[in-house]
Amino acid sequence: MRLLIISGPSGSGKSTLVRHLIGREAIPVAKSISATTRPARPGEVNGKDYFFLPKDEFLRRRAAGEFAETNEVHESGVWYGTLLAELQRIVDSGRTPLLEIDIQGGLRLLEEFKDTLSIFITTASPDEFRKRLSSRGSESPEQIAKRLETAERELKLAHLYSHQVCNDSLDRAVDEIVSLFKSHWK
Ligand code: ADP
Ligand code: 5GP
Repeated sequence: MRLLIISGPSGSGKSTLVRHLIGREAIPVAKSISATTRPARPGEVNGKDYFFLPKDEFLRRRAAGEFAETNEVHESGVWYGTLLAELQRIVDSGRTPLLEIDIQGGLRLLEEFKDTLSIFITTASPDEFRKRLSSRGSESPEQIAKRLETAERELKLAHLYSHQVCNDSLDRAVDEIVSLFKSHWK
């Protein structure tokens, strides 16, 4: 199974990039909808942004082997995971699953799935994460501090991904991902 895995620190602009990448329809990918135990944020839709699951259901399905990977992200007791059935649904539709997941989950999938293109999103300076997270305004200062700590750890693992793309200019970063995809799966 082919997988396009996109990871990067919180605030690097992954969700924005992925939205633009999918909107452009330049490559045959579809976003894999993850499951999570966190509550939906205003405007988020169940089955579109995430499958929002109660924790007991998430853990039961995890024990039943329904996930390709799971992780408790940001050490906050919130679980995230990629459902095998979701990957299969996308493959059956003739597209490549695009996974926007954290680096631990990404590295787990790299071990298991051999036909992957893995892209780590960075910015020119780490200070940019702080600025972008503050301007996004969806986390408290404590949550931002925790995400920046996680970012520091994640940056040390970035070299395990096959490519790094700097998201300073959004359009250029999208172009770069499109051309990496096209050259990886000619
Ligand atoms: P992530 O999904 O990695 O946490 P987001 O996509 O939510 O990050 O982006 C974080 C903030 O940075 C958002 O406010 C977004 O509008 C902004 N952003 C994303 N890409 C860029 C970019 N290339 N230049 C400047 N700001 C950006
Ligand atoms: P958020 O709560 O802001 O939507 O996402 C928080 C973090 O969870 C992000 O770093 C995102 O990449 C990660 N994430 C989202 N879905 C998954 C998933 O299915 N698996 C893993 N391991 N991480 C995920």
